[in-house]
Amino acid sequence: MSAGDTAGERMHALAAELYPICRSITGNGVRQTLAILQREMPLTIHEVPTGTPVFDWTVPKEWNIRDAWIKNSRGEKVVDFRCSNLHVLNYSAPVHASLPLAELKQHLFTLPDRPDWIPYRTSYYKETWGFCLSHNQLLRLADECYEVWIDSSLADGHLTYGEYFLPGETTEEVLISCHICHPSLANDNLSGIAVAVFLAKHLAGQKRRYSYRFLLAPGTIGAITWLALHQKDAHKIKHGLVLTGVGDAGAFTYKKSRRGNAEIDRVMALVLKESGAPYQLVDFSPYGYDERQYCSPGFNLGVGCLMRSPWGQFPEYHTSADNLDFIRPEQLSGSLRVCIAAAEALEGNRVYRNLSPCCEPQLGKRGLYRATGGAGIESSIFAQLWVLNLSDGSHSLLDIAERSGLPFALIEESARLLCASGLLEELAATPDGSVDK
Ligand code: ZN
Repeated sequence: MSAGDTAGERMHALAAELYPICRSITGNGVRQTLAILQREMPLTIHEVPTGTPVFDWTVPKEWNIRDAWIKNSRGEKVVDFRCSNLHVLNYSAPVHASLPLAELKQHLFTLPDRPDWIPYRTSYYKETWGFCLSHNQLLRLADECYEVWIDSSLADGHLTYGEYFLPGETTEEVLISCHICHPSLANDNLSGIAVAVFLAKHLAGQKRRYSYRFLLAPGTIGAITWLALHQKDAHKIKHGLVLTGVGDAGAFTYKKSRRGNAEIDRVMALVLKESGAPYQLVDFSPYGYDERQYCSPGFNLGVGCLMRSPWGQFPEYHTSADNLDFIRPEQLSGSLRVCIAAAEALEGNRVYRNLSPCCEPQLGKRGLYRATGGAGIESSIFAQLWVLNLSDGSHSLLDIAERSGLPFALIEESARLLCASGLLEELAATPDGSVDK
């Protein structure tokens, strides 16, 4: 078993440990989740009080739930939160009532097309109560009176999020953002968290030019809250990825930033092409995950979204079928590899200057030209010629990899060899990240 496979198994095990927890946009489920993740990486946990204004929004009341059920006239539980936390409409207000089936049905949600699956529904900003159940469960309910009990609370409290800042040589940041607000759903939530955690573990052991900020926050309101509290610092984020839905068997989908041609957009296109795996690139749209907030016009950050099957385009989406069998270790590790390759390309993307720009320098006398005459040119020589030709101070290694069609790692290695032989020098980046030419 390769190291990648081991990581896949460990990511899946982490998702399995987090799976039973009833998360929401606030509350103890988020705290329990972050406490488990603190074991994996030194997350700082932040608590933002209910009522805090965050741009056009307000941090909501904190929701917690202890139990919920529906009992029939014989006192038997016909729907039980303890069997699946999806059974409760997420953010349900507390209720204890007896009511006939016809009235109860106004508070029930099912999927008639997928009669064995429980839907996932939320009501964050409208105070109501409800239950989600399989359509077959609903069909079995006799026309009688039912007792419903939701032991939840909606009260002043906090919104909780976790943050891990991994400093690099510069204060420029790469943001990795995941939502942590979904209950027992594996692909939409836990897969992104697991890959982010293992990416953090990997990067912690690497030399880093960039600083990396891992943000684990409830969807929408969490990203909005973070941006509202860090409005002055958000410009330090030069590149970013929202990670979600990265454990299913679908091809990769990379959704570009609003800018469309940000460095992260080009890096992801290159890395996915080089991965050899099937993938698609899609343009930005103002819905989806938290890239919506990072790419809102007041920020317009270079943040895209890496997924496999896009949200809403697989039948298991937001149902009980998005379970631990739906995400596989090898798919999680494939996603982790893409993220690591993206970080390596961002780290390695520099601008150089050819110090011998008048005609080709003679590579052979420097020991760089190793091809035997007439036997064709090794790709490493092609890469060196491309790097020398385009390193006029205005092309980055990413430009050169794109234009030459050669692997980024080979271009980067060529630049390193050419620097060592005195033919190339790296141009220093200025504090704002642009190249000092
Ligand atoms: Zn979702």
